[in-house]
Amino acid sequence: MSDIVGRLAPSPTGHLHLGHARSFLLAWWHARARGGRIVLRIEDLDVERVKSGMIDATFADLAWLGLDWDGEPSIQSHTVTHIELAAQSLLARGLAYPCTCTRKEVATAASAPHAGELTPRYPGTCRGKWRSIAEAESATGRAACLRFVAREGPIEIEDGIHGRRTYDVARDVGDFPIYRRAGSPAYQLAVVVDDARQGVTEVVRGDDLLESCARQALLQEALGYPRPRWWHVPLVTDATGRRLAKRSDDMSLASLRAAGTDPRAVVAWVARRSGMPDAERSWPRELAARFSLERLPREALAVGPADLEELGLPFGRS
Ligand code: GLU
Ligand code: ZN
Repeated sequence: MSDIVGRLAPSPTGHLHLGHARSFLLAWWHARARGGRIVLRIEDLDVERVKSGMIDATFADLAWLGLDWDGEPSIQSHTVTHIELAAQSLLARGLAYPCTCTRKEVATAASAPHAGELTPRYPGTCRGKWRSIAEAESATGRAACLRFVAREGPIEIEDGIHGRRTYDVARDVGDFPIYRRAGSPAYQLAVVVDDARQGVTEVVRGDDLLESCARQALLQEALGYPRPRWWHVPLVTDATGRRLAKRSDDMSLASLRAAGTDPRAVVAWVARRSGMPDAERSWPRELAARFSLERLPREALAVGPADLEELGLPFGRS
């Protein structure tokens, strides 16, 4: 038995599409090819974006594809105590603080947004300003978020696809939120606490999260957690190079299923476009032994009309 633990971490915010199918298959193969375990974690903490019925729909989509996992699925909102304890320990050590700045205040106080960063750098306005969340909230009449104190200086990341990268979170992002408000943990902290709690050793996910791994590495360092190995894989895009959105049902697994597509054809299509050019219609486990992320093409996977036809989807929809 190997000590490799991979994970599937879907957010139940919409139907899974071909992009999810591909990153989940890659994560699953990467662990299973080496005798590893797979844990499933439903990331349902972003209550504004979670849609009802999507947890069950996610289970159904994963099962349809032939993906399985070990142990009970973990529902993130059921285990928030672990995240709270981590936040409390950071607060107690002065590594986190309440912040009541509005988005607008952060934007006007910050220097020009850094290339590639969607949000402006937080300039540290509230660092050392409040003794407690209660004090921050009563003084301003606003809900407070919690920010993590990003330590100064570079941090090196090793990614299986992107190689060695150096980031400077303090310079480029600033102190970043670990709670969006009381009772509502932010993604960066939640993912780090839960990967550690579930013993995850391999994180295979879309490369839109590559820059997040610097923030996650800083949190792991501060909390004394081991670092997983990261593999940020190229995304699936439509024919024009736009990443697939969960908002539209384009290329959703539900619509493939409704069109009568054989899930093994989806698995084979992903496999052929992911370093296994000879893959025939198969269930994921039938291909696991042949899989290696070393052979994954390094460019985004664009889905064109020929792909849609191969998958039995009517095209001209997106
Ligand atoms: N739940 C996140 C998503 O579906 C993935 C987070 C992660 O893999 O770290 O976008
Ligand atoms: Zn602030």
